[in-house]
Amino acid sequence: MRDQFGRSIEYLRISVTDRCNFRCQYCMPVEGLPWLPKQEILRYEEIVEVVRQLAPLGLRRLRITGGEPTIRPDLVALVAQLKAIAGVEDIALSTNGVKLPVMARDLARAGLDRVNISADSLRPERVVEIARRDLGFDLVTAALAAQEAGLAPIKINMVVMRGINDDEVVEFAALTRQHPWHVRFIELMPVGELRELTWDHVVPSAEILARIRSLGALHEDAGPPRGNGPAAYHRFDGAPGTVGVITPLTHSYCSTCNRVRLTADGRLRTCLFGDHEVPLRDALRRGEPLRPLFEKALAEKPMEHALLQMQVGGLRALSQVGG
Ligand code: SAM
Ligand code: SF4
Repeated sequence: MRDQFGRSIEYLRISVTDRCNFRCQYCMPVEGLPWLPKQEILRYEEIVEVVRQLAPLGLRRLRITGGEPTIRPDLVALVAQLKAIAGVEDIALSTNGVKLPVMARDLARAGLDRVNISADSLRPERVVEIARRDLGFDLVTAALAAQEAGLAPIKINMVVMRGINDDEVVEFAALTRQHPWHVRFIELMPVGELRELTWDHVVPSAEILARIRSLGALHEDAGPPRGNGPAAYHRFDGAPGTVGVITPLTHSYCSTCNRVRLTADGRLRTCLFGDHEVPLRDALRRGEPLRPLFEKALAEKPMEHALLQMQVGGLRALSQVGG
């Protein structure tokens, strides 16, 4: 399955909910967002049907995201159904990690291959300050639970914010010398209606790398751990893990973009930014074939996003588009 620019699309990110048990400063207002009514959210059997129809067209890899996917009841059952679809080779989960200590083993047994854990601090009080919910989250506990369940490679995503958590980048990088974990520093995107975070909070990737070099020699181009992400990887001497930077603002990954997104309410989005999307839900509920809609979506997938040219403050929060 190729788009109008010849990019092959084999990776689908599936948002299973727009809700979350956290309220991360960069993602959601404290009071939450107007949640989608339940009847507008795709049921699990509908998500499975979309994947079943996409798989023969070349879809191979899935990522389950949200909102926070682990708060949707019975996620384990969805994983098992998706894994049973012929052609699906790899299923990953993006999570804030809060529920991993209780869910990791069951998710792995159902067929989940690996996890990305979002974590912005190793200090309990600061986790609460950033996530604005006190749920006892501890990154090391969550990552060890995932590791023990065999959900590898484990990737850890930290959104770096100047004056808020940027003093922890060295500690996060040091985790990769002790554990086979892949820490990725994400440049903050000041998106949505969240006025508290501005361009002043963005720490460019070059500055992040310069700071973590204080730990020791960093080898460039360590080669990516298994996955599909747009990160550049580096490794400390003899370290079991890697560090990477994801720089959505200062670099464009569009020429190698291999992904499309399914929103919780059943719209196929071909670019994280911008408004290119094709609604699938009503056709799905009428029992119509989805292929013509997939083809329309791909024909419209834009060459690249216009993030730098756009008023980023006007974009939707990532929890709503399945970041
Ligand atoms: N709740 C899950 C989680 O936090 O991993 C999955 C959904 S969350 C929207 C996906 C990713 O988007 C997280 O790694 C989060 O840190 C990132 N994200 C959300 N808003 C962001 C922003 N304004 N700038 C950079 N990354 C952001
Ligand atoms: Fe929830 Fe993830 Fe957004 Fe944080 S980044 S509020 S955990 S959806």
